[in-house]
Amino acid sequence: MALGIVRSQQEYVQSGSTRSVDYRLKQLELLKAAIKQHEALLIEAMHKDLRKSEFEAYATEIGFVYESIRYISKHLKKWAKVKLVRTPLVHWGSKSYIYPEPYGSVLVIGPYNYPFMIVMEPLIGAIAAGNCAVVKPSEFTPHISAAITAILRANFKEHYIAVVEGGREATSALIHTPFDYIFFTGSIGVGRIVMEAAAKNLVPVTLELGGKSPCIVDRDSDIELAAHRIIWGKFLNAGQTCVAPDYILVHKDIKESLVARMKDKITAFYGDNPQNSADFGRIVNERHWERLVGLLDLDKIAAGGDSQRDDLYIAPTIMDDVTWDDKVMEEEIFGPILPVLAYDNLDAAIQRINGRSKPLALYVFTTNKDTEQQVLERVSFGGGCVNDTMIHLTSPHLPFGGVGASGTGSYHGRKSFETFSHMKSVLKKRTKINWSFIYPPYSLKKIKLIRKVMK
Ligand code: NAD
Repeated sequence: MALGIVRSQQEYVQSGSTRSVDYRLKQLELLKAAIKQHEALLIEAMHKDLRKSEFEAYATEIGFVYESIRYISKHLKKWAKVKLVRTPLVHWGSKSYIYPEPYGSVLVIGPYNYPFMIVMEPLIGAIAAGNCAVVKPSEFTPHISAAITAILRANFKEHYIAVVEGGREATSALIHTPFDYIFFTGSIGVGRIVMEAAAKNLVPVTLELGGKSPCIVDRDSDIELAAHRIIWGKFLNAGQTCVAPDYILVHKDIKESLVARMKDKITAFYGDNPQNSADFGRIVNERHWERLVGLLDLDKIAAGGDSQRDDLYIAPTIMDDVTWDDKVMEEEIFGPILPVLAYDNLDAAIQRINGRSKPLALYVFTTNKDTEQQVLERVSFGGGCVNDTMIHLTSPHLPFGGVGASGTGSYHGRKSFETFSHMKSVLKKRTKINWSFIYPPYSLKKIKLIRKVMK
């Protein structure tokens, strides 16, 4: 079935229907109008699937997507232009161009944590670049998956934009289909499966994965501000954010003060009992709830620690005096548990981070330029912030993606257009002159000349 859709989409792209920028702009406009029409349904679905508050549903998913459509639509004409580039002197009489062209039919696979935004954001890039797409939303958020399906099916023909719902089996069939591009967001383990399947058909991939993103809090930092911004970033969407600070590495001299302030911030944001707060989300399902509860070490709880299975609730939790060998430090947490580790020496802390997989994000809180420079220059990570958490991903001017195990490729803003475009290089040569120098027979004179020209 998937193969039939791919073929019809490839034909549609080859027919030239998606070529014109006006066509693409109209489709983006149509997508935006369709989302606007279904806003209430989407907000309700996000509440049902993840107990997302209306504010978070709008700010991190729906509004985010509107902004992206607005920004990309504004710049698309310029980006899509054929670009004249320089030509080396040896090719005198020629002109060189880059033609951005669509790949064809692209597959977009999404995760459960921002189940709407993370399929729409790549879809916007795919449309902008003139592709057709098949969207596969996460099965763990069934209400959102149904809403996405309703929105796309009501507004787009399958030979242009199609949706496939389902779990592992459905996705497995999709990734083995010869799409022209696969854009996957999800866990490292599944990313590996996707890349392997894509390799069999030589399909290019973008992998937006996860991992453990460190947050360093230096002795020379504004502790109050750090606490505020860390607690916000960690407990948004109940910690189920790919770029949430996974763990804190704090200088030992200020650890106590930071932990105390972070506890205060939890209360300030979510009240004395976060379970009653309309602004605190829930874990997506029992499997993940169980996994997370299994990470709690009751002897190390500094705040929170309580949980309730039938409500899929885990309190915003701080674990203090955690060591690198604790279970909570093995894998990406992806939930409302914040381990705090102390460091004495920045150099050793950096070495610890560099001893693990390259993180998707890294945050450093410091007012010391040397500390900032050390961290930024010596640690490789996807992207991050100095003195804040997570907000780098909201800028369309910053390509968003991982490095190493945290991902391959990036998107957002112009990078989304480029990711979904093949940049076709063309050299146009004049026909009046045909310089015989490069053609055989290769005389000694020619050999001497080539050595002079290419040195
Ligand atoms: P996941 O890898 O379990 O699932 C993602 C998608 O893959 C789903 O649509 C699912 O149906 C499909 N899938 C699952 N098992 C499969 C299999 N065996 N074969 C083929 N397809 C399969 O990820 P998740 O649990 O939904 O999301 C959480 C993860 O995603 C975290 O690791 C998080 O860091 C990461 N994430 C990354 C980003 C980013 O932008 N880098 C954003 C959000 C989430």
